[in-house]
Amino acid sequence: MNVLVLDGGASTEINNMGYSIHGDPLWSSRMLMTKPELIKGVHKSFLEHGCDIIQTISYQASISGIQKYANKTAEEAKEVMQKSVHLARESVEEFWKDYQKKAEASDSTILADKKKPLVCGCLGAIAVQFFNAGEYSGAYIDEVTEQEIIDSTDQDCSLLEAGIDYLALETIPVQKEAEIVTKLLREFPNANPWISFQCKDGNHIGHGEVFSDAVQSVVQDGLLKYVGVNCCSPLYVTPLLQSVQKQRKAYSLEFVTYPNTGEIWEKETFGETGKFIGDNLMSSFVPAVPEWIDLGASIIGGCCQTTPKDIQGLVDCVNGLKASKK
Ligand SMILES: [Zn+2]
Repeated sequence: MNVLVLDGGASTEINNMGYSIHGDPLWSSRMLMTKPELIKGVHKSFLEHGCDIIQTISYQASISGIQKYANKTAEEAKEVMQKSVHLARESVEEFWKDYQKKAEASDSTILADKKKPLVCGCLGAIAVQFFNAGEYSGAYIDEVTEQEIIDSTDQDCSLLEAGIDYLALETIPVQKEAEIVTKLLREFPNANPWISFQCKDGNHIGHGEVFSDAVQSVVQDGLLKYVGVNCCSPLYVTPLLQSVQKQRKAYSLEFVTYPNTGEIWEKETFGETGKFIGDNLMSSFVPAVPEWIDLGASIIGGCCQTTPKDIQGLVDCVNGLKASKK
């Protein structure tokens, strides 16, 4: 069983540490410029709770967004994007040095079996540049051209030059946008990408298209190995994965699932005021993991509101399954 655990809501963790980020159009990515050590601390917290992959703090970043909201040149903005990778990589190196010492001093096979954690470069939908929570509705899609999506994603793929193990194009709510960025990925054959959809229920992506149609449209040329769902309720993941079993078999797909806790932001748009509301569904999240693995999920983590402790719960669950299958 080859399942890797992804990290959780790093920006939630930053917010929980007392930094108010929800009113900032660069959100947690501002910290790449102002609090790099804090970002490393958050990465290391997830690593210490056992995850196998960490995502760069670049979801809300883009070269044009950093130029606009942090008054940087294009070249400086590119350096900020790449710094997200360097900080993630440094965190892994520092964690791994300590971990190996611990593993050597222990006779635990779980400790000894663990591989060095990997780094995933993270890019959000173009919606993040508008900072209006459009990634949960897709309402922006008629306001942007295909060329704007291509140009923006193309320049933000400079993350790849900093050396990442996966590229996540995530929280995409619109089929058309997913198709456009998937086509662009042909120019980055070594990206090891996943396209991850934001879904509004167990059958539809945020903008309303049927999830299985959206998946079909991005996998049919056979170039994608991973497709994901993220930042939706954990209760939607099983029906979503069930609906794409035909594509799983036809294209040898693996799924990446990192739902949120089920809590949602109370307002239509993000801002300094507001809070997450609704029930925290972590008690239903972890018990569903074996089912997701049976349905083809090979990378599982958490999105908004999931904490390092929640990720530890996933790690324990996956380790338990691995041990029972030995
Ligand atoms: Zn999220």
